[in-house]
Amino acid sequence: MTAPSTPSSTLPATPQPVLRVDRVSAGYGSASRSARVLRDVSLAVAPGRTMGIVGESGSGKSTLAKVLVGELAPLSGQVLLDGADTARLRRRQLRAARRNIQLVPQDPYSSLDPRMTVGRALAEALDPGASLRRADRARITDLLETVALEGDAADRLPHEFSGGQRQRIVIARALAVQPKVLIADEVTSALDSSVQAEILNLLLSLQKQADLAVVFITHDLSIARYMCDEISVLYLGSLVEQGDIGLLRSPSHPYTELLRASVPDPSGAMFDTEPPPVVAADPGDPANPPAGCAFHPRCPQGPRVVEGRSICIGTAPPLLPLAGQSGRAAACHFPLVRAGTPA
Ligand code: ADP
Ligand code: MG
Repeated sequence: MTAPSTPSSTLPATPQPVLRVDRVSAGYGSASRSARVLRDVSLAVAPGRTMGIVGESGSGKSTLAKVLVGELAPLSGQVLLDGADTARLRRRQLRAARRNIQLVPQDPYSSLDPRMTVGRALAEALDPGASLRRADRARITDLLETVALEGDAADRLPHEFSGGQRQRIVIARALAVQPKVLIADEVTSALDSSVQAEILNLLLSLQKQADLAVVFITHDLSIARYMCDEISVLYLGSLVEQGDIGLLRSPSHPYTELLRASVPDPSGAMFDTEPPPVVAADPGDPANPPAGCAFHPRCPQGPRVVEGRSICIGTAPPLLPLAGQSGRAAACHFPLVRAGTPA
């Protein structure tokens, strides 16, 4: 890798997003009586950038991952790869699009066939249905090398590896087809913290080498902060806040603020303000969210009354850009007011 020498007079062009998600809604069950668990989710990711998806368990993060990789068809809205709606592609283009968006799942063990050697699994990813021919060996060794595994790993079975090594194998498999977009769904949540760091750093370096656009799903804000450039916060299947990584430091939505309470921050280095106390609450079912603002039953600000009626209970707040905060949007009738930077 060589650093490009950019003349100081020309600003680098803002890269165009390779992945765009446009008002996607999705759910499970038959089309006629399908329970919607994702509503109107939009986001965009450019090459080399990482969009974090954060939210509690059950908020719809993995459902979004399934829609992005084409495992679940959206009920409405579009997933656009290089500007093309993936639902409208014909067979050949669809195959290419599928290759270009690869998923690294949470549990590498269940996504690897226990009876298939690692070499076979990678050969299968490189060329589905093909046998493990000699010509593949060099590519496979190469792939194993990029994730720092020895070449002899190819002849072994998944159970012969540690959890961290298996996660490396699954990453190698996702990268085999040289995708443009990588979806990482809670990739380190099953690993010890020392191994977590290794995997996260590996992902960061592979992303840099291949200029990958990454959608990084996690419930862990400290990991999100380490990995991501931008953040989308999901609550019961809807986006409540979106913007650059700074939103974790000073959230505009009371839910993001509440999420911070679950992050240990003894040194106080991570956040600008004291997070609110943890309030144990069941977020509920995304298929059946509370009326109005879905967050109102848990909101520390409480539902507010304006002119004799509660707008928080009566009206769902749309995700709107916030004045004076470039690129930041929040879905709250009363976004948290932030003091300007200290003088
Ligand atoms: P997260 O990954 O944020 O924990 P999920 O996307 O897995 O959330 O789940 C969101 C909601 O969709 C949950 O209420 C869950 O019960 C429901 N759900 C997930 N998978 C299925 C499925 N295969 N069939 C029916 N409901 C599902
Ligand atoms: Mg999940």
